Amino acid sequence: MASVAVYPGSFDPVTNGHVDIIERSSKVFNKVIVAVLHNRNKEPLFTVDERVQMLKESIEYIPNIEIDSFNGLLVDYVRHKQAKTIVRGLRAVTDFEYEMQAASINRKLDPELETFFMMTNNQYSYLSSSIVKEVAKYEADVGDLVPPPVPKYLYEKYGSSPSDR
Ligand code: ADP
Repeated sequence: MASVAVYPGSFDPVTNGHVDIIERSSKVFNKVIVAVLHNRNKEPLFTVDERVQMLKESIEYIPNIEIDSFNGLLVDYVRHKQAKTIVRGLRAVTDFEYEMQAASINRKLDPELETFFMMTNNQYSYLSSSIVKEVAKYEADVGDLVPPPVPKYLYEKYGSSPSDR
């Protein structure tokens, strides 16, 4: 049976930390669906279409990946995609409490689904989409933090570029 996993997130924007989790999980599962969440409480910088587009440009070299977006409850989406596993990344203990709560509620909603946690590579443990946005906003170089297609989108959004400094 083919193993299909869903890696859900805001990806606002995708960072090198996300790409690392996607590359590594693509070696564990036959197929990984990277799914961008609609309807978050946080106000995103990028539209869902922009976030999907950045992901497509950034990870198109990985063959067993699908990029999608979804509304509503994660467990419903995972079932709809006929997946059995949710992939999440862990950076530090600060991620742990929220992730444990989310995994517990998802197990309660559907005991058939498993959540699979992957520890970040140490080199990315400080990296988050919020940090990337903060750095780009002040026109500093984000080249080491995100995949090559992403800086252009960030500087367009903020109307800036590191060369303006
Ligand atoms: P969410 O808003 O759902 O947390 P994110 O896009 O911020 O969405 O993150 C999606 C997933 O990727 C989460 O499991 C998060 O812990 C993980 N993640 C984010 N940044 C990193 C990183 N630098 N290294 C490993 N995992 C990460």
